[in-house]
Amino acid sequence: MKTTVAGAGLVGSLLSIYLAKRGHDVTVYERRPDMRDTSIPAGRSINLAMSDRGLRGLEGVGLADEIRKICKPMHGRIIHDVKGNTNFQQYGKDGQFINSVSRGDLNKLLMTEAEKAGVKIHFSSRLASLDLNTATTKFIDAAGNETVDKADTVFGTDGAFSAARMALMTGTDRFDYSQTYLEHGYKELTILPVNGEFAMDHNALHIWPRGGYMLIALPNLDKTFTCTLFFPFEGEDSFATYNTVAKARAFFERVFPDALALMPEFDQEWVNNPAASLCTVRCLPWKYKDKLLLLGDAAHAIVPFYGQGMNCGFEDCTVLDQLLGESDNLAQVFAEFETLRKPNANAVAELALMNFVEMRDKVADPMFILRKKIEAKFSQKHPTMWLPLYSMVTFSDIPYADALSLGQWQNNIMEKVMALPNITERWDNLEIEEYMHSLVKEFSL
Ligand SMILES: Cc1cc2nc3c(=O)[nH]c(=O)nc-3n(C[C@H](O)[C@H](O)[C@H](O)COP(=O)(O)OP(=O)(O)OC[C@H]3O[C@@H](n4cnc5c(N)ncnc54)[C@H](O)[C@@H]3O)c2cc1C
Repeated sequence: MKTTVAGAGLVGSLLSIYLAKRGHDVTVYERRPDMRDTSIPAGRSINLAMSDRGLRGLEGVGLADEIRKICKPMHGRIIHDVKGNTNFQQYGKDGQFINSVSRGDLNKLLMTEAEKAGVKIHFSSRLASLDLNTATTKFIDAAGNETVDKADTVFGTDGAFSAARMALMTGTDRFDYSQTYLEHGYKELTILPVNGEFAMDHNALHIWPRGGYMLIALPNLDKTFTCTLFFPFEGEDSFATYNTVAKARAFFERVFPDALALMPEFDQEWVNNPAASLCTVRCLPWKYKDKLLLLGDAAHAIVPFYGQGMNCGFEDCTVLDQLLGESDNLAQVFAEFETLRKPNANAVAELALMNFVEMRDKVADPMFILRKKIEAKFSQKHPTMWLPLYSMVTFSDIPYADALSLGQWQNNIMEKVMALPNITERWDNLEIEEYMHSLVKEFSL
């Protein structure tokens, strides 16, 4: 089968390996030049958190171990208050962690593996048009030259601003579409090594939660940390207000002093690194007969606060591959894929938005920390009865939609537990565990 893939980002590159292994004759077209040859930036964020769903996607093509070699494990979050005090919150059980990985290194490795699997990749080739009925695509290179390619089917993995999706939107009737921007954008900054070593604990993701905004930092293999400031575009504390280096520096000295002290390149980075926007994209359908299927951000771009965008896109590849293993009828496979994945894409979009509030605000709240402690203890004792929401999303393959509804169920129970008188003193007592047990039974009825 002759297959065109539009977009050699993270999802398109992995997908092309899956398809090649299934015997497809795959040609990928990527808008950007080959990032292995040039020093072009690898896209939107410098590093990403990879968790179990992403690793499972890689495992399906035998690449998880190779990728683990370029990952930096993060076992929990370290919360920094304004005075520089820190507090460690473990993510899951002992031995469970998420992985910081360079987007560029991951993407390069996947493209190289795709080529080894027989995939042809054309760079600097932008999808300009797509005839849905004939799976004929037109790509334009940097010099304006056109390539027309007729395939049996096309996969649209060209990201949040997908041209393949645009073909569905303009070429079909009743296409649902929404894009919703956050009031916050993000700017990346760097913490450099100190005396050749990591400047902070490198086994964790660092968070400076400040209510309406936050700074986070993920470790890199070169002993730097990539920091991301999630900050309103407008308002009192905002990119618009701190529009000079002097103003931004004074703000950081007041609000993130310990982080600023480790950022010798702050001034240049504040000026040179853009404030980029964050968007949730929802659309339907994701497919056209047996001719086109959207995957990854092209189908469901989400905000990054659960660290799940790429993980969800890699899970798309796992699910599609399973379906391709069960049937040769592509139209049926595409329809089934959409039925299975759309509710999960909706759920992870909601989870990601919810987690922004948790990360920038709640993680600093002692009652929230206590609540997580109570949940962790109960879960440890009764693992089949209670898996914390974070673990369901990050360390399991429970469908996102189920995780979301179980999380809401847990929330109702925890509200009752936290409302008990003197819970801060009693939380470790057997009576609290028994009470939770009774609530779990009562709410399960
Ligand atoms: C700040 C930030 C932090 C994030 N952190 C995480 C995280 O920690 N964990 C996580 O799982 N996810 C994270 N994400 C989400 C993650 O980046 C995306 O979900 C993931 O990159 C989606 O992969 P994709 O291949 O679908 O799209 P993309 O990575 O956007 O790739 C799309 C590719 O298509 C190409 N393209 C675009 N248009 C065309 C065209 N017309 N023709 C040909 N090619 C085209 C692009 O050049 C690109 O190479 C984060 C996102 C952001 C913005």
